[in-house]
Amino acid sequence: MNREPPPSPDPPPLPPEAEKDRARSGVLLGTFFDIRFYLDYSWFFIVALVIYSLATYLFPLQLPGHDPAVYITMGTVATLLFFLSILLHELGHSLVSQRCGIPVPSITLLFIGGVAEISREPEDPATELKIAIAGPLVSLALVVVFRVMAWGCDFATLPEGALVFKWLATVNLLLVIFNAIPGYPLDGGRVLRALIWMRTGRFRQATFITSRVGVGFSWVLIILGVFTLLGGGWGQGLIFLVIGIFLKSAAESGYNQALSREILDGVGVADLMTANPLTIPSSTPLSLAVDDYFLTHHHVAYPVVDEDWRFRGLLRLEFLKAVPREKWPYTLSGEVAEANDGSLVIPVETSASNALRILLVAGQGRLAVTDSAQKLVGIITRHDLLHFIRIHTELES
Ligand SMILES: [Zn+2]
Repeated sequence: MNREPPPSPDPPPLPPEAEKDRARSGVLLGTFFDIRFYLDYSWFFIVALVIYSLATYLFPLQLPGHDPAVYITMGTVATLLFFLSILLHELGHSLVSQRCGIPVPSITLLFIGGVAEISREPEDPATELKIAIAGPLVSLALVVVFRVMAWGCDFATLPEGALVFKWLATVNLLLVIFNAIPGYPLDGGRVLRALIWMRTGRFRQATFITSRVGVGFSWVLIILGVFTLLGGGWGQGLIFLVIGIFLKSAAESGYNQALSREILDGVGVADLMTANPLTIPSSTPLSLAVDDYFLTHHHVAYPVVDEDWRFRGLLRLEFLKAVPREKWPYTLSGEVAEANDGSLVIPVETSASNALRILLVAGQGRLAVTDSAQKLVGIITRHDLLHFIRIHTELES
């Protein structure tokens, strides 16, 4: 396909279940600029490690003769400002993304750095270029700010402050250099992808080339990590190895996403769903639902509908376990399905790529599809979507 993907409509809001799942992965710092800021639990570990290595090694080496308390204070201030720099870098990407109409629900600080959750890929190369370049620009500005502050401290003969700010300027510069490597999903890779996409109009090919560069670079990091480990450099070797592995999987999944997006482009849920699926009438007692559906057919969830096909909810196997067995003959399927709100429902007009995204984010296997009158028209499963993608990938290769 030799064209740019057309803009897809805004994705429907995520179901509450998915929101809860994401909140569990870390500590919520607060909401600024409509973006939720999270600290992943892994972050606390890396913060302690960075403070420790600065306070016991780097700072005493460069500025000897101080009390340990001074080094710990310097290490803590430097580390927290470093992670603030990463947040600001991600905020740079995010604010530009929001201005281009792509919402950013959250920014999370992980052990590996920051991750801005850009809700979907940009629809044109110019937007991609702007979003990709905003983060490194913020980091470059921080390099200048920290340099100036280091000069100020030098001027005021505050060598402790000068050292902290010099270190911050250096790590921010390293961040810019690392991100300039033209392998997707690094910022440099996104810039290169946007440029190739702009020239050729081929999004998938641009992603293919830059993700190959990304995978190649991640192998360099992995091999470097192994050799550093063998040479006795445990800390550094491990960091190279972890970043390399992380980058490799991100580059590969980035290409797969681009592929699915292009294949699913223009395809609607209505084209791929199972229309008129097997349903349980809402007045069916649970005991009968178990015998006639769960034990007779092989599905783990069934849509429950009223007589007029109004959708009440999905009845999942796990909901049954929450109801005592002796109550099954007196409990209606409709009540149980409806009470366990969080059944995932999408309108029949939803695009197939949005449906896949919702399924993946929610970690669910199936979605109910309804029409404008809330009547059930079908069921779409993750299997339906992935199968469609697989068939097309194989036909084209
Ligand atoms: Zn970035």
